[in-house]
Amino acid sequence: MDFLENAVYKSGVFSLTVLGSGSGGNCALVETANTRVLIDAGFSARQICQRLESAGIRPDSLSAILLTHEHGDHTAGLEVFCRKHTVPIFCTRLTAEQLRRANIGENARWQLFEAGSTFRIQDLEIESFYVPHDAVDPVAFVLRDRDGAAVGFLTDLGHATKAARERIRKVNVLVVETNHDEKLLQLDVKRPWSVKQRILSRHGHLSNRAAAQLVADIAGDALRTVILGHLSRECNNPDLALEAMHQLGLDQLELICAAQDAVSARLQIRPAYAPKPLELPQVDDQISPINYHNGHEQYTESLFDIAWDWGQTPTRKA
Ligand SMILES: [Zn+2]
Ligand SMILES: [Zn+2]
Repeated sequence: MDFLENAVYKSGVFSLTVLGSGSGGNCALVETANTRVLIDAGFSARQICQRLESAGIRPDSLSAILLTHEHGDHTAGLEVFCRKHTVPIFCTRLTAEQLRRANIGENARWQLFEAGSTFRIQDLEIESFYVPHDAVDPVAFVLRDRDGAAVGFLTDLGHATKAARERIRKVNVLVVETNHDEKLLQLDVKRPWSVKQRILSRHGHLSNRAAAQLVADIAGDALRTVILGHLSRECNNPDLALEAMHQLGLDQLELICAAQDAVSARLQIRPAYAPKPLELPQVDDQISPINYHNGHEQYTESLFDIAWDWGQTPTRKA
């Protein structure tokens, strides 16, 4: 799909479908009426296609794949998927280099951004931000539609930095890692001590307890739904992950545990306030789209040129 294929903005539903999440693979779909992006591609290409099709989506209709980092549970299907479908891959330069060294994506359409930058894919604004994890350049994302509704993806992090907390404070839906129950991890006999230390480290993975504390810290007027994701098969289960949230009194939120082997329902992402009526941008606004859209954010130059679409053809002053 070309970035400019949809010349006119179609108002529609902003939604999230988790195609699967867990230590065995992660992949989610975010859709607006105009745009469809995958967050990570951690299943085989065949599985990704089957799961997309079960959600009624043709793989060729994707606008982009966004990668959080290079680990296999986020990139396993990338090579084969991108050989069959010409979908651009958005990731940081270091992540792309790491994948290319593993001969992944030789002929793929790489679109590189810097961790911390904000960029646009059609009618989606995407904020990237650094997270502490044992990968070369791991990032998390907040995706925002033109009405200001936002979904955050915060998986694969050893701890939540102050900057990460600030980024996700205003999201309406949060996908957060609840990787392990600390007791089950300590009791696990399959993992050597060094692996347990890596998981528990500040560059490892969030426990149920740490994730619940994070959600309790950032929950405010905006947050409505929390998707618990990236559960370890051996060291966690949905009951324990949900229980940690309940223990901190987070029952007023909609809490959903993502499954490794099942596609979730399509979840609508709504803003916390009534959207303002559409104001069409001026020509100058189109030159600095992020500043127009979100005045308090500082636009960070990204390393590539992405077309963006506010529903009208840009006109130039003579
Ligand atoms: Zn992972
Ligand atoms: Zn990882």
